Amino acid sequence: ENFASFGLGPEVMEGINSLGYVRPSVIQAHTLPRILGEKGQGGKSLQAQAQNGSGKTACFSIAVLHALDISVLQPQAIILCPTRELARQNHDFLNLIGFGLRLKTKLVCPGMERVPTGSTIDVHVLIGTPGKMMDMCKKRFAYVRELKVLVLDEADVMLDQENFMGNHVMDVRKHCPENVQILFFSATYPDHVQIFARNLLASKTVIKV
Ligand code: AMP
Repeated sequence: ENFASFGLGPEVMEGINSLGYVRPSVIQAHTLPRILGEKGQGGKSLQAQAQNGSGKTACFSIAVLHALDISVLQPQAIILCPTRELARQNHDFLNLIGFGLRLKTKLVCPGMERVPTGSTIDVHVLIGTPGKMMDMCKKRFAYVRELKVLVLDEADVMLDQENFMGNHVMDVRKHCPENVQILFFSATYPDHVQIFARNLLASKTVIKV
């Protein structure tokens, strides 16, 4: 298995090569052919058990970049993360691997500058925490009716009782189109995470890895 067989665009391949990746990690090899195969069709959703170090960040970043139509400047992907720090890392990584595209991204986290009333966030990808993302969707600062991909990174942390964000995740999902592709990543799958995933991904064809 190699990246060239996935049918990625030249800009994404350039990003992958610039990072020095020679072959896909296990999770990338298992998921990318199937989640990329669905371009433009509101494709297959994914539920993956992925630890740090598995290459999951590149996995969903490549999927997001592949799904984008760069000529359309409106949110086409959302990456939800449990913390600001992780959101920033994911934001930076996406821009690194996507440097060949004229990609516009925005961090949507507590502490971001205010969006002027009546305006919208015109970028390709929004990356942030569920509460703030839900707020942006609800106040119509982020127009997400044509969103193609919704990523959940470290879902188990977002669903931790101590700091439960599941309600915000569900609210964001409700703003997205019915056929949005959902990429659900979690390091662990205790019952409550599995149940949440089942509800979120309801009626979708799900690839499990
Ligand atoms: P992650 O699991 O997303 O935290 O990624 C762990 C590390 O693996 C990061 O430093 C990535 O840049 C790196 N990585 C991801 N995919 C690959 C790959 N296919 N080949 C080599 N390194 C990779």
